[in-house]
Amino acid sequence: MDLSQYKNVWIFAEQRQGVITPVVKELLGEGRKLAKDIGTDVCAVLLGKDVGCLARELIRYGADKVYVADHPLLENFTTDAYTKVITDAIGTYRPEIVLYGATHIGRDLAPRIAAKANTGLTADCTGLSIDPQDKKIMQTRPAFGGNLMATIICPEHRPQMSTVRPGVMQKLEPDDSRQGEIINVDVKLEASDIRTQVLEIVKSAKEMVSLTDADVIVSGGRGLGNAEGFAVIKKLADAMGGVVGASRAAVDAGWIDHSHQVGQTGTTVKPKLYVACGISGAIQHLAGMQSSDIIIAINKNSRAPIFEVADYGLVGDLYEIVPMMAEAFADE
Ligand code: FAD
Repeated sequence: MDLSQYKNVWIFAEQRQGVITPVVKELLGEGRKLAKDIGTDVCAVLLGKDVGCLARELIRYGADKVYVADHPLLENFTTDAYTKVITDAIGTYRPEIVLYGATHIGRDLAPRIAAKANTGLTADCTGLSIDPQDKKIMQTRPAFGGNLMATIICPEHRPQMSTVRPGVMQKLEPDDSRQGEIINVDVKLEASDIRTQVLEIVKSAKEMVSLTDADVIVSGGRGLGNAEGFAVIKKLADAMGGVVGASRAAVDAGWIDHSHQVGQTGTTVKPKLYVACGISGAIQHLAGMQSSDIIIAINKNSRAPIFEVADYGLVGDLYEIVPMMAEAFADE
């Protein structure tokens, strides 16, 4: 394979019903750093129906070029259609690196494209950098249940592809003065290429939490002892203008929905303030929250590992401390 034919960093610009998924902006920010190190452009790849209007937003957040594949059959995400269009575009334009958010769509799409394009994929990355010597991308991800971090390269094949966890990379401030090129992709797609049909999109009735966008997260763990304990956590979160997070132990116990889970198999978060209540600080939980700006830990065991990453530690019963804090903040 002649690797020199491949250039540019591509970002899959996932959108749903005309709204760009937040991780795309994070990937554009990260893509700019990678592209600088290898001296290429950052390109967004936008698929959908009547989505051209989103191209400008992608440029504001860091894209030099936006490839727009606009087609009625791309209105809703289907694995077959999106795989075909992106694989065709990879064959035509030969990107060196392609990044996808590790969202439900990205996790479905990226492996199929990797198989079709006959290349590798590193899933669920939490760190990306360029090897200064051979300019390959070094893709870091947790391995063996989060007990070690593995750095993976794709030596022989192109493009080099990764899915990247939402909430890990830094998005850039939007810049209205940024200029970029918009390129319309020639979409060759027939209805017979798609083996599934979207009949209806049903919005989840349950309350959705946006952990990744929250400035303040108050999380509860097994130390709560029961589902009702989350009412106490919610009171503090409300008083602080934050949202409720949880450890996996609390989720697995059925006390709260998985959408609240912080950590390796939940959401990675980076709020201004993270309050961990009755959470021991297992490595898989820390992997999702330790880069928060300020961490407060409340735990009755003074030797709990959470105190090693905490900026402020309160040793005691959360059922005494959390209501006191909620009251104090409610009075603010
Ligand atoms: P525990 O470890 O049981 O800790 C409970 C804590 O509460 C203790 O420290 C205790 O001292 C304290 N406590 C008890 N009562 C009180 C009280 N009244 N007041 C104050 N403190 C009290 N975990 C995650 O959180 N997120 C993940 O994404 C995740 N992914 C995983 C992926 C893999 C592959 C594996 C193997 C594990 C994963 N885990 C994850 C699970 C993780 O290893 C831990 O089991 C889990 O984080 C423990 O949750 P916890 O801290 O709530 O419970």
